[in-house]
Amino acid sequence: MASYKVAIVGAGPAGYFAAQALQNLQTDDLQFTIDMIERLPTPWGLVRSGVAPDHPKIKTVSKVFEKVATAGNFRLFGGVELGTDISIEQLREMYDAVVIATGSAIGKKLGIPGEDLPGSISAAEFVPWYNAHPDFHSVEVPLDCQTAIVIGAGNVSMDVARMLALEPSELDQTDTADHAIAALKESTIREVIISARRGPENAAFTSPELRELPKLEHTNVLMSKSEIEAAIVRAGETIEKDTKSNLDAMLLISEKEKTNHDRTMKFQFLATPIEIKGTDKVEEVIFQKTGGEEKFAIKCGLVITAIGYEANSIPGIPYERGKVKNTDGRVDEDLYVVGWAKRGPSGVIGTNKSDASDVMKLLVEGLKSAKNSGDVSELLKDKKVISQSHWELINAAEVAAGEPLGKPRKKFVNREDLLKVAHS
Ligand code: NAP
Repeated sequence: MASYKVAIVGAGPAGYFAAQALQNLQTDDLQFTIDMIERLPTPWGLVRSGVAPDHPKIKTVSKVFEKVATAGNFRLFGGVELGTDISIEQLREMYDAVVIATGSAIGKKLGIPGEDLPGSISAAEFVPWYNAHPDFHSVEVPLDCQTAIVIGAGNVSMDVARMLALEPSELDQTDTADHAIAALKESTIREVIISARRGPENAAFTSPELRELPKLEHTNVLMSKSEIEAAIVRAGETIEKDTKSNLDAMLLISEKEKTNHDRTMKFQFLATPIEIKGTDKVEEVIFQKTGGEEKFAIKCGLVITAIGYEANSIPGIPYERGKVKNTDGRVDEDLYVVGWAKRGPSGVIGTNKSDASDVMKLLVEGLKSAKNSGDVSELLKDKKVISQSHWELINAAEVAAGEPLGKPRKKFVNREDLLKVAHS
């Protein structure tokens, strides 16, 4: 029987699905021991710090992750950063294969004047801020204005706009960070504009997300019916199924009667942002009608860009255009990549399952004789590592703290608090 050691770097969905795929590929003759290395003291990646808190169903996939983690051949090494606490070279010496699953954490920039003014932030900061990510609790989010503009027409921009436009008491029974609920309750924002540079027929939203918008209880969702109808004409008869479903959902939104809620989420299409203006903070965004000359300005105090992500580079790993340089997930003979770090920031959480499974089949094909060279815990003996049982303590404490409040969990925000609970 051959037994191989595989390190997976990054405890997000792609990492867990890679581990699950390896577990499923085991036979009597082929066994794996899997070590998952994660920078944060908590696992689950975007399921913990990306998925919108008002979408708890999406987070139930964490049950799959816990099943993988407790299957017997899996160890978690949380609080360990590749490139700082341990190098890729050390991992490659010790493991038969290394799988990079570190996602895409950096928000893409518009590259327009004024983008760095206070009050202009990226979804890559705002989303982890409301999700209690320990690195983002002190992000400055000015909510003391009337209008916020969210740039981008994907599901992240929709999450961001919804979080800003919801009646914040709707978040009381979610796992939104306490600091974010408190700040959103003080927010004076009453108009949130989602701004797309192309037409409704080219929007990257998916239809389930669009279809839930009319169900918002305290928010008017506005789309212009004539704009959607024009998009339906432009899309023509050979329209793709997903685009048709999106446009049908948008038409329903545009036909819904306006209610007297004082919170509004409004969609604007065919508007290219060309400048963010303000003396010492954001005051307005200048747009140009896409494909035309006409320019117009919208006053606002907060701009959030949600226009995609790039991977953070780790020393010793080749990158190209915001992703790890790879061929079908293979980086080198013992080095693989899965998830957003491999293919860029696309797809839903489930997309990572088939993707990781294909890459793990390649990994198995590339295995040579097992190395059996040392244990990573030797290298990490002076670090306060978060093991699976430490994480289970954190998880139980968060769930217990949330229970009397009707929340699925009450998240710890500071690393120190997380470590204290883990090592209690
Ligand atoms: P996305 O779906 O790729 O959308 C990015 C948006 O940004 C597009 O509308 C794009 O417009 C726009 N954009 C890009 N560059 C721009 C620029 N320079 N100026 C103006 N607009 C620009 O990315 P995402 O929203 O970050 O989502 C990432 C992935 O996560 C997606 O697959 C998404 O479905 C998934 N996700 C799913 C959920 C869910 O299932 N509920 C929630 C969140 C995220 P163009 O098309 O014109 O380039």
